[in-house]
Amino acid sequence: MTDADAPFADGEGAGEGFVFSEKPLGIESGEGVHLTGTDGTDYLDFGASYACTPLGHSPPEVVDAIAEQAADLLYVQASYPVDARTDLYERLGAVAPGDLSKVWLCNSGTEANEAAMKFARSATGDEKIVAAKRGFHGRTMGALAMTWKKKYREPFEPLAGGVEFVEFGDEAELADAVDDDTAAVFLEPVQGEGGVNPATTEYLRAARDLTEAAGAALVFDEIQTGLGRTGTLWACEHAGVVPDALTTAKGLASGLPAGATLCADWLADGAADHGSTFSGGPVVAAAANATLDGLVGRDLPARAGEVGSHLHEELADAVETHDLPVREIRGRGLMVGIEVKRGANRIVRDLALDHRVLALPAGRSVVRLLPPLVVEERHADHVVGALTEVLDGS
Ligand SMILES: *Cc1c(COP(=O)(O)O)cnc(C)c1O
Repeated sequence: MTDADAPFADGEGAGEGFVFSEKPLGIESGEGVHLTGTDGTDYLDFGASYACTPLGHSPPEVVDAIAEQAADLLYVQASYPVDARTDLYERLGAVAPGDLSKVWLCNSGTEANEAAMKFARSATGDEKIVAAKRGFHGRTMGALAMTWKKKYREPFEPLAGGVEFVEFGDEAELADAVDDDTAAVFLEPVQGEGGVNPATTEYLRAARDLTEAAGAALVFDEIQTGLGRTGTLWACEHAGVVPDALTTAKGLASGLPAGATLCADWLADGAADHGSTFSGGPVVAAAANATLDGLVGRDLPARAGEVGSHLHEELADAVETHDLPVREIRGRGLMVGIEVKRGANRIVRDLALDHRVLALPAGRSVVRLLPPLVVEERHADHVVGALTEVLDGS
């Protein structure tokens, strides 16, 4: 999902640009916050493979749910109701913010955004989509058109048309861009790939007011921020703003391919001719149900808020005490970006190779931490110690 990922497993250039290209890490197994390499090395996972394992690796309740469902029924077409899928519709509808109780299920984040884009165009009859600079919404032709980075877009043009980019956080620019021809505004409440940039409450509220006045849909891409990561189940809850659609994916099924678009009624009316063979497949739905039960039942959003605050404080303290080369610490809960003065990739590599701590870059200058939400304060302290050593020597 970043430059870090090689598209073809065995193709030429596999691993190119990958942070561990000098020493690829083979991973064999995982448990909780830990991953074990093929050589037996234990890693503390503070990347959670891009926020895909909120309950930690291979959580037993999810593994059991998958095994039971797989033994009963691997797949049946989406027009036959099965309990796992019906339960997931209900669970997602119940935890959705505000009145976003209409649920569209798919297999990835990019598909969840494609669906929101289609629903918004169909429901409004308008074409224009407003998205933010430095935003990331996926890599299929529609979602890619809303993704800012030229490197991701240019080789594949022409993409879906009608997308206008605005400066993230600039209310006046947003007000200029949103007009009667606007179908939707897509925003991440905290930009992930773009460098962990939180939107202010005022900006999200302005987006709400402007879209409402223009009859456009406000879509929050919570694929990285959602499912408890920022301290509330959905990041938009901090601002008290309910969008017209919210997209989720990444950790929804603990690492199995799952995505969802949660919609207000008026937007769901635009969904008539959308579909997907694997929408809400029983095994993935069973995994998502167990994941949601774990998140809610164990109150993990609150825990993410607490451990996240601790991590933030300890980081700030270390930066100050050791005069580390850090420009800013940003983020919310267990979504943390550390803007460094140079070489985020190198820092991530050194953390892995010298300290067996896995983190992620977000662009060239931000080290990103997205640990599983079951992480404990002692893990956070360990990572702060490792980061301090790496940054002190950098
Ligand atoms: C990862 C991500 C996506 C794309 O999800 P895929 O499952 O890789 O298609 C979209 N938006 C955000 C904010 C993401 O972090």
